[in-house]
Amino acid sequence: MRVIRRAAEITLDDPGVWVTVGAEGAAQVLHGVRAMRAEGEFLVIAGERGELAHAASVELSHPAGVRADGRVLPARLRVRVSDQRLEAIAELPIEQYVAGVVSAEMFAHWPASALQAQSIVARSYAIHECARAGARAWHLDGSTSHQSFTSGPTEAALAAADQTRGLVLLYHGELLRTYYSSVCGGRAASAADQWGATRETAFNDAPPLRACERRCPCDDAPRHRWRATMMATELRDRLRTYGAQNGLQLAAIGTPRTCHVIDRNEVGRPMRYRLTDDVGQTFELRAEPMRLACNAEPREVDGPGAFPGSPAAPLPPFTPRSRPGPASDPDADPSLATVWSNDFEMRISRGEVTIEGRGFGHGVGLCQYGAKALADDGWTATRIVEHYYPGAVVAPAP
Ligand SMILES: [Zn+2]
Repeated sequence: MRVIRRAAEITLDDPGVWVTVGAEGAAQVLHGVRAMRAEGEFLVIAGERGELAHAASVELSHPAGVRADGRVLPARLRVRVSDQRLEAIAELPIEQYVAGVVSAEMFAHWPASALQAQSIVARSYAIHECARAGARAWHLDGSTSHQSFTSGPTEAALAAADQTRGLVLLYHGELLRTYYSSVCGGRAASAADQWGATRETAFNDAPPLRACERRCPCDDAPRHRWRATMMATELRDRLRTYGAQNGLQLAAIGTPRTCHVIDRNEVGRPMRYRLTDDVGQTFELRAEPMRLACNAEPREVDGPGAFPGSPAAPLPPFTPRSRPGPASDPDADPSLATVWSNDFEMRISRGEVTIEGRGFGHGVGLCQYGAKALADDGWTATRIVEHYYPGAVVAPAP
């Protein structure tokens, strides 16, 4: 699993970490390492008094977990240079990984059956992704691009992983790519609409991943309904940025005048939006690119090519922690307005944009807040996951 990606530098918080350079047999252990940085294709390893060594890659280890950049990472990891930046990769047993995902994705105080449901979907998704990682140096990314992960899982997460050990979701005997998100807002999305279903990603068209009418009690969740406002000129700048980053005509949009939903899925969730601008141009975008475009910032971002192995990174499943700072209140500063899902209505009037939205995340598969509410109602983990992926069954991994 990749635990750090595209870092210019990694600072060790504890100089007691063992840093091993070189291959087995000729390995050298360095002491007192403080930081590493990328220089061309090499790692520069620095101590208190300057450079200690250069290497293509190093191994870090500490029995209590490697502490770096203010985070606790797994006990053993390899740092290497990739595309002139540093990345850190750790190898973990699947159950330890699942517990780390459950810790990062759900609150420890949530009911046990919700945490167990999360364990089953996290495990299914992980095994599915590992099988298609191919020659990539890592199988899974420890961020919302795949699944959030934290080292040092909670007791509740360890118990949930253990109680569901080895269980996954199957559809006609095939492992399901169990996408999930924070709050569906009451309307599910289909994986194929979200990320496409080509020959390589035909799994996105599995019936359990298609939107259908379902009961989802996520009404009390934060961002079940939300609102974002910004100036039309700000929206224009964001759309232009996204257009330029992705080589789209959108890069030439004027100030937006109108925005309409022009296509909806079988449960009413928007699938396409049409924008017009002040010089009469028209632009059509699918729902997810539209959301990304509304949030685009003029800075370096990882484009779609950042995850060559994935059909598209799923939208952040979410981190159920409170987000500190202005992002927790999108209305606090219009310049920081965040579009939390791709299910919204947009009004533009007198140079101001008002976006009324539903939910947080992509809306495909399990809804985490809905699963929590069903668990509160006494549903078992199996019943919860089979509810959110209709037709799929819980079974041991094939
Ligand atoms: Zn929901």
